[in-house]
Amino acid sequence: MTSAAPGFRVVIGLEAHVQLKTRSKMFCACPADYANAEPNTRVCPVCLGMPGVLPVINRRAVDLTILTGLVLDCRIPEHAKFDRKNYAYPDLMKWYQISQYDLPLCVNGHLDVTIDGSADRVRIRRVHLEEDTAKLTHVTASDGAPASLIDVNRSGAPLMEVVTEPDIKTPAQAAAFGEQLRGLLRWIGVSTANMDEGALRIDANVSVWPADHPVGAAKVEIKNMNSFRALSRALAYEIERQTELRRRGGALVQETRGWDEASGTTLVQRTKEEAHDYRYFPEPDLPPLHVTRARVDQLRAQLPRMPDDVAADLTSQGAPSADVAELLHDRALTDYAQAVIQAGADVPAAVTWIVHDLRRVLNARGLAADAIPIPPPELAALLQLRANGSVSSTMAADVLDEMFATGKPAAAIVHARGPQISAADQLLAIARQVIQENPQAVSDYHAGKQRALQYLMGQVMRLTRGKANPGAVSALIEQELGGTG
Ligand code: ADP
Ligand code: MG
Ligand code: ZN
Repeated sequence: MTSAAPGFRVVIGLEAHVQLKTRSKMFCACPADYANAEPNTRVCPVCLGMPGVLPVINRRAVDLTILTGLVLDCRIPEHAKFDRKNYAYPDLMKWYQISQYDLPLCVNGHLDVTIDGSADRVRIRRVHLEEDTAKLTHVTASDGAPASLIDVNRSGAPLMEVVTEPDIKTPAQAAAFGEQLRGLLRWIGVSTANMDEGALRIDANVSVWPADHPVGAAKVEIKNMNSFRALSRALAYEIERQTELRRRGGALVQETRGWDEASGTTLVQRTKEEAHDYRYFPEPDLPPLHVTRARVDQLRAQLPRMPDDVAADLTSQGAPSADVAELLHDRALTDYAQAVIQAGADVPAAVTWIVHDLRRVLNARGLAADAIPIPPPELAALLQLRANGSVSSTMAADVLDEMFATGKPAAAIVHARGPQISAADQLLAIARQVIQENPQAVSDYHAGKQRALQYLMGQVMRLTRGKANPGAVSALIEQELGGTG
């Protein structure tokens, strides 16, 4: 089901937890990057929750949260504070989590979610900062008894929570919100936002109501989705379940359910009767935060241009919008493309070439866009050689590969290989040789198979080490084979 059944209305609100890219943890000096660390090696008395220790606020985490609030058009109040959220569970070392309750860092923003070109506004209620918990792994011990393993490395990692108003109406819109949020978080560099690593975890709240009935407070919270596909499947399942329940005249029971990927269903984890009373109170070991206007202005000035603006810029200069959309998935690649354009490259050529050819080389070498060893003016120079016909597209791709391998400038590589061959007399001899050696392709060509021409051209390219001018080659082959195939 993609939208509400006739006679019903669907209400969805999301809570996204985002691990922030800081060097140290939220309230101690332990490294926040524990991904490849042995369990329980990135810990100290603070994040182990020992009695008597004192937390210290990570300023960078506060800044990253404010930056997120700014791109979500939130208001950043001057006064914020941390609070204790109390609950007793073994993943929480102190049996309380330092979080934010009534004075979060960011409030009242919005994100316009676009599906098929039409945008719907989702209001953001708040963005606040808290600490992550330890990680529990439930196993069966060697004696067959159930056991839980605990890894405290994650405990105290900075965790930002983005909470929406219940403005979302379909599973597809929920997934689109998540994808757009992930794109923004990556763009401004506050998080890797990788769902499969748990750097972005989204809980969904959903309720179904008869259309002629006011929306009430009851809702089901769904946890454990670790992909956007799981998010939308879980919501679709839950909407159908609740709609059936309503049809039978049943009342919605407020509860927390977990998404079970294997069965494609949600299962009850906790009902309202078991709901926690968190007994929030101001964290006595931390000072309240005074967020000065100067600090907010400084952070605003650090924000990069947003993807929509960059896209409008590039497409208005002739870059194909599909390539632009592809480019904008990667902030570092976009920055690189802009530097190449800045160095004088033609805009559509640079965008298309970077998205296709450059990315192919990056993928083959397992390199990320922020590790491109070629100075942008050097890539601009290669594009220039291609534009003026000094190298063919095939040869340009080879030259690029050699630039990666040797670090030599494009012009030197092209010079060493010799210029593109356009001279008909040189190419004619090679074309005739290829035609003679490939009778099958020739008869395929005469039978009207267009692929045969591509094949024969490819052979000429191979013999000239990519230096033949492709336009000249195809004209010559067609001429030699007597025109139409
Ligand atoms: P709780 O106190 O249970 O955390 P909140 O009012 O704080 O509930 O809302 C938590 C999330 O649930 C928010 O994302 C909000 O948009 C969403 N939400 C609130 N009411 C509903 C509802 N009736 N149906 C679906 N989602 C809702
Ligand atoms: Mg909540
Ligand atoms: Zn620590």
